[in-house]
Amino acid sequence: MFEFSIAKLPRIEFGSGAILRLPGIITSYGNRVLLVTGAHSYQHLPGWQKFVDALAHRAIRYKQFKVGGEPSPAQIDEAVREFADQDIDVVVGIGGGSALDAAKAIAGLLNLQCSVMDFLEGVGPELPYQGPAVPLIAVPTTAGTGSEATKNAVLSVQGDRGFKKSFRHEKLVAEYAIVDPELLSNCPPDVVAANGMDALTQLLESYVSLKSNAFTDALALSGLQAVRDALIPLYQSFREVGAQEDELIAIYREKMAYAALLSGITLAQVGLGSVHGLASPLGAFYPIPHGVVCGTLIASATEINIRCMQSREPDNKAMAKYAYAAEVLCHQQFHDESVAHTALIQLLTNWTHELELPSLSNYGVDNEALGRIVANSRGSSMKTNPIVLQDPEIKQILLSRL
Ligand SMILES: [Zn+2]
Repeated sequence: MFEFSIAKLPRIEFGSGAILRLPGIITSYGNRVLLVTGAHSYQHLPGWQKFVDALAHRAIRYKQFKVGGEPSPAQIDEAVREFADQDIDVVVGIGGGSALDAAKAIAGLLNLQCSVMDFLEGVGPELPYQGPAVPLIAVPTTAGTGSEATKNAVLSVQGDRGFKKSFRHEKLVAEYAIVDPELLSNCPPDVVAANGMDALTQLLESYVSLKSNAFTDALALSGLQAVRDALIPLYQSFREVGAQEDELIAIYREKMAYAALLSGITLAQVGLGSVHGLASPLGAFYPIPHGVVCGTLIASATEINIRCMQSREPDNKAMAKYAYAAEVLCHQQFHDESVAHTALIQLLTNWTHELELPSLSNYGVDNEALGRIVANSRGSSMKTNPIVLQDPEIKQILLSRL
């Protein structure tokens, strides 16, 4: 049980106001920085102007690359062409998962000046990546993907012939993750809901992953506790006029930022499960935000996993883990495993409704498309699902959320 390897992690600066340490950290790498941000949201970040002033004060020259939506290989190649000859000392990704993933891929390629398509998993030649990458600092402004702690950049081409694949290497892990919960204060409610469910899904899937270990289990459980205490109250706070400055809300944000960070660490170490297996074709073929896929599928995917283990692998150790996750998330003791399982599925279903997560048909997914989605769901995440699912079982996950 106590035998495991832990792969490279970033140095982590966590806490309210941690962003103020960013200019000093940048200076330790040099004075030419490439900021990779979302298209607009960065301007409204608390302290953005102060940050820009601090860069000027330290004679740090910065260039900026803006990423709108989930990054595509073409966008990454464009940025690499534009900035490759600018002697960038450090890349700073500031934003949601899309900005951080783009920053990660750009930092990985600035020194090489070749196309990211050369390295993308499952498409193209899959050449071995050898670096060197430009140092990366990741500053998340949403609480969800945990990209600040992972070694992969997810890139997508959307549409009928679309794909959603990873550029993955340990050399892409950020040097620093600067997690400042105050940066979440601009997150709109639907983003809080979807990203929060992404973090929850990543924690639960890595907790029951076939590769899970005692070290990641401890982190996953701590993250699940934080989600339990903060996600629903944070979402509900948007309905209370004037509640935004409340001290309690600051605590909820802190807990969600913490949970998201832990979810990134655990997923990077031990992998995920069927929800993330399905997230890649769904995100490639339809314009569905990643967090919405997770939020809308986690209850049904958990139910299918449990049902399949009940009938085929009743001694699978994930059965006890699901029961324990139920105790943590429901904050209640259960004396019977199957009662705990039912409570877990019910809780996840309730949260899906309370967080108003849209169903798949809202994005154009219909019955006829399910076969193709299932056929494209067996990437790396599906391989660590606690039980091997048959195609009709995977289809059932989707059917209940059409
Ligand atoms: Zn995810």
